[in-house]
Amino acid sequence: QVKERGRDAIEFFNTEMADKVSQQLLMEGDLHRALEVGQFELYYQPKIDCTTLKTIGAEALLRWPHPEKGFISPVDFIPVLEASGLIVAVGEWVLEEACKSLVAWSEAGLWQPGMRLSINISPRQFRRKTFVQDVKAILDQYNLPEESLDMEITEGVVIQNIDETISTMGNLAESGVSFSLDDFGTGYSSISYLKSLPVSTLKIDRSFVRDIVDDQNDRVLVETIVTMGSLLGMDVVAEGVEEEPQLELLKNYGCHYYQGYLSSPAIPFDKFEEWLKLDGDK
Ligand code: C2E
Ligand code: MG
Ligand code: MG
Ligand code: MG
Repeated sequence: QVKERGRDAIEFFNTEMADKVSQQLLMEGDLHRALEVGQFELYYQPKIDCTTLKTIGAEALLRWPHPEKGFISPVDFIPVLEASGLIVAVGEWVLEEACKSLVAWSEAGLWQPGMRLSINISPRQFRRKTFVQDVKAILDQYNLPEESLDMEITEGVVIQNIDETISTMGNLAESGVSFSLDDFGTGYSSISYLKSLPVSTLKIDRSFVRDIVDDQNDRVLVETIVTMGSLLGMDVVAEGVEEEPQLELLKNYGCHYYQGYLSSPAIPFDKFEEWLKLDGDK
């Protein structure tokens, strides 16, 4: 009897796994097509100065309006892109799209010197042998200064091959591209890397910010990250700020910048252009 049930459990498990695999394969096919026919969109979430409330830049976030299923979350499709290697081509598309937007906003006088557009870089993209040269070539093609670009990387990028990471980041940082450590605090050993990597910004993960008003422990963690970042000469950005009281606390701790629904979610090109116009009138 036990044997029977054991077999059932294994069959159930296998069916579930097979379902998952076939779903991923289906999605992979859809993603291939999405890239081919140009379904992807790039949205922009403003980065706000906690004190002046002015926009200091933005984060570009990938959006996929699936023809039948509507918007699918990047949390669900980025891992499929990463696993299949498609992320390299999609990442290139993101970079080029970001450059086009930067050119448009610069020409319209809406993108001030000192503002940076952040793009998220996946591990697979970052580890490509030609990554540095590809990035420089595209900035060159669009005649954009390296200083207009910021790259958000996670620990997943950093831990894989530290020597290579140092040299890739060093090369880009020397030419003016800046780096932000994304989802800071959620990994295992971020702190030891801060000494050796040219990181200019720490992004406090949303999970620490969410309950900051009610949770004393989260308050301590956030204040500590802000203090540490500041003492290391870095900028600190808080992710996922949704309410005024969260911003008040962050400001008290000396946090420099924030992103979150309190000001705006990620919005399409046109809407963000409007945003920049209104910001200029502030
Ligand atoms: P991330 O880089 O940490 O981006 C922050 C996420 O928090 C975004 O989710 C953003 O829409 C969301 N967010 C911002 N403010 C708030 C808020 O106030 N409340 C809540 N609840 N959420 C907020 P999104 O756009 O779904 O992206 C999820 C993740 O997917 C990103 O996390 C990033 O890791 C990845 N991703 C997105 N676009 C790209 C891309 O172009 N390339 C790569 N490699 N990864 C990307
Ligand atoms: Mg990010
Ligand atoms: Mg983040
Ligand atoms: Mg995050």
